Amino acid sequence: MTLKISSAFDSGAIEVLSIDRAEDIKVHIRADSHADFRQWFHFRLQGAARQPCRIRFLNAAKCTYVDGWKEYRAVASYDRRRWFRVPTSFDGEQMLIEHTPERNSVYYAYFEPYSWERHLDLVARVAESPRVRVRDLGSSIQGRDLSIVTVSSAGKRPLWIIARQHPGETMAEWFVEGMLERLIDPSDPVSRTLLAEAAFHVVPNMNPDGSVLGNLRTNAAGANLNREWMSPSLERSPEVLHVRAAMRETGVAAFLDVHGDEALPYVFVDGCERLPGFTPQQGELQRAFAAAFKRASPDFQDAHGYPDDKETKVNLTLASKHVGDAFGCLSLTLEMPFKDNADLPDVEVGWNGERSKRLGAAAVEALLAVLPHL
Ligand code: ZN
Repeated sequence: MTLKISSAFDSGAIEVLSIDRAEDIKVHIRADSHADFRQWFHFRLQGAARQPCRIRFLNAAKCTYVDGWKEYRAVASYDRRRWFRVPTSFDGEQMLIEHTPERNSVYYAYFEPYSWERHLDLVARVAESPRVRVRDLGSSIQGRDLSIVTVSSAGKRPLWIIARQHPGETMAEWFVEGMLERLIDPSDPVSRTLLAEAAFHVVPNMNPDGSVLGNLRTNAAGANLNREWMSPSLERSPEVLHVRAAMRETGVAAFLDVHGDEALPYVFVDGCERLPGFTPQQGELQRAFAAAFKRASPDFQDAHGYPDDKETKVNLTLASKHVGDAFGCLSLTLEMPFKDNADLPDVEVGWNGERSKRLGAAAVEALLAVLPHL
């Protein structure tokens, strides 16, 4: 059987340089469709069953987050459901996957994908709950629906959760899936108590086009949506424009912007403490939320995070900084690893979709803990 690599499917991305022999496959990681970020890959290899494959990523050192390749292992799947880690190394120039697939068809990816079809299924499924109202906020550049899921019973205090501004950070939508499943569970006492006081406004996928196009960081206009919050436009960042307008209608009592971090092998949050208008009450809320999140999930920690001098800490074009400044509320960027949680590693799967889902469910508990102070 001839060797073949393909990527013409949802979130597929790779450039094949040579594929003559299984032990000498050469590829390039592709740039985002309309911008020069590159890190995400997702492709199918056929015809290599029981052959020791060596897949060389020749431009790994020219990718956006080179630190992302250190101690990193790629994921693979035969059935596109169960994803496992495969031996991967980085020598400072090239990345190398060494894997002997058991089957003739195997998929490799940067992280467990979350497909657009799964997104549509999720939105349709939660819409069946009597607690849920799904609304269309508008369209992406390429005309995909931008859906918002509002979960509420009696409560009104507006809690906002958004995910996948950076479309390659698929763990963010797995997180939202876990959170929504818990919120609509009629037998969950935490959700019931929370929803008696609060309403959740959840955008499961902020960047539908970038997700389908297999982009790491940008939409179909080449915009990094998490740098568009000061002045979004219909031409360049309609996704942010529509969500920001909806936030101004409801107000925001707490905000989580969910992401994945390429380099750090930890789950952590990044707050607004470096902003000029940051209040002692916001500081107290950040501390209380972190403490409650640690109790709710041992996957969360607050020892490791971004350094205090990181430029993004004072950049009001970022969602969490813009919202924290505009609404004076608890406002956090939540980061999960592409690699693994070094505090609680899993050799077989690393950090993955299921673990992200559990974390999303646990976040509901942390929000309940701080609710009286929001
Ligand atoms: Zn991100």
